[in-house]
Amino acid sequence: MQLRFETSLSGEAYVATQGWRMARLPSCPLHPQGGCSFSRHGTYSRVTPTGTRIPRWYCPKGHRTFSLLPDCLASRLPGTLVALERVVLHAEYASSVEAAANTLRPDDISLPSAARWIRLRTYLVRGALVGALQAAPVLFRDCQPSLTSFQGRLRGTGVLMALRTTLAVYLPRLPAPLGFAPRSPHLKRIQHNSGADPPRDWY
Ligand SMILES: [Zn+2]
Repeated sequence: MQLRFETSLSGEAYVATQGWRMARLPSCPLHPQGGCSFSRHGTYSRVTPTGTRIPRWYCPKGHRTFSLLPDCLASRLPGTLVALERVVLHAEYASSVEAAANTLRPDDISLPSAARWIRLRTYLVRGALVGALQAAPVLFRDCQPSLTSFQGRLRGTGVLMALRTTLAVYLPRLPAPLGFAPRSPHLKRIQHNSGADPPRDWY
């Protein structure tokens, strides 16, 4: 189960300061009264940003693992929210996904592969913003499910990271890469049909 690690660290700063060492989960989310031998359970690594580790806890009684995801990182997707936002914003401003892919892709990534990669990210972020609109309809009244629209309401960039704070209580049921809700079978099918990610991280 994924939980929020509230921190303003950027992805680079999180790695540089080994931010995972600062994460705390004082009691078991399943048994706040204790008595379940809840304890720290090491870390696991993420590929991007290079050197990233995510702290983990384990409850033997509930057979559940808990990981604390820092606010800078996308949920269930490689990389940071800032990097993801940059790609999706680029696609929102471009005349087409293919045009955005052509600009953003490195030489060794084919155009169709880059377009699929961007289309999946655009789809996921849009889904997360739809979730945000449903969770806080008053706050985001008249907003569209686009980063450009949310930028206007939140007065600046860093929309996804800002939403981690603004919508903190809703994160367990908001879709990834913003929230921590489990993936739907529908989404798994889309990802499968989108093909594999390009062979190396290029954003
Ligand atoms: Zn427990």
